[in-house]
Amino acid sequence: MKDPVREATERLRAAKLLSARADARILWRHAEGRDDVFQQFIARRLSHEPVAYITGHKEFWSLDFDVGPGVLIPRPETETLVEQALRELGDRTRSYRLLDLGTGSGCLLIALLKELSNATGIGVDASADALAVASTNLLRHGLVNRAALVAGGWDAAPGQFDLIVANPPYVRSGDLQALPPDVRDNEPKEALDGGPDGLDAYRSLAFLLPRYLSSTGIALLEIGAGQHQVVGLMEAAGLVLFRIVPDLAGIPRCLVVGLGRGLERLAQKKIGNRGPTR
Ligand code: GLN
Repeated sequence: MKDPVREATERLRAAKLLSARADARILWRHAEGRDDVFQQFIARRLSHEPVAYITGHKEFWSLDFDVGPGVLIPRPETETLVEQALRELGDRTRSYRLLDLGTGSGCLLIALLKELSNATGIGVDASADALAVASTNLLRHGLVNRAALVAGGWDAAPGQFDLIVANPPYVRSGDLQALPPDVRDNEPKEALDGGPDGLDAYRSLAFLLPRYLSSTGIALLEIGAGQHQVVGLMEAAGLVLFRIVPDLAGIPRCLVVGLGRGLERLAQKKIGNRGPTR
């Protein structure tokens, strides 16, 4: 008998699906040895349904997240924000207040809460589907006591925050059609469509961040390839650019901004804890 995984890999490859072998393996494991179920999964994959929607799972920051239609699938480049946030904060034990704007599956909020043991956070999303999935994920990761979800737009969060993260929709409306069919025909348009120039969400964020940020707070924003104009939008709103961080592919992916003296004051506090400087 022919190896079902190998046979499926060949079919996926013939349909020009890029990660044919890995997809076939994951779907085989998810079918738990039932060939009829596996064949249904392969048929769905052949119609470009993302593997993560078929299995209902996606790994992010080495954590397992529930995902489903209506929720953007966590992407590896978004881990850049988690990595950089941890670098900026230094001390992981302080009781930071986090805000994740457009939380989707909750992956950024949850990854950060897992790393920052005394932090609390709010995830905001306008999508009921996203909030339902984020809520499941908070429960699964044991974080319901340290996090709250808020339904609404960019301005829906109450209070001020030490660390703000956002992976907003940033694809130009006119470019949506050119996205791979996996993304274009399956993932939620609200999580991708950034308006005519792709920058609509950043305009709202630039307006709101000065209100949301505590005096020592920082915000980390994911940007799309080549979206350097976002820096200008933030600076025009009175924010200071601290850093632009590339993802693993070398693409500038994460902006770190704050109010004028945000990082300096964080640094001073850290030095203060160790006694007088020399
Ligand atoms: N990077 C995503 C993509 O490839 C876009 C995500 C977003 O708009 N935030 O489709």
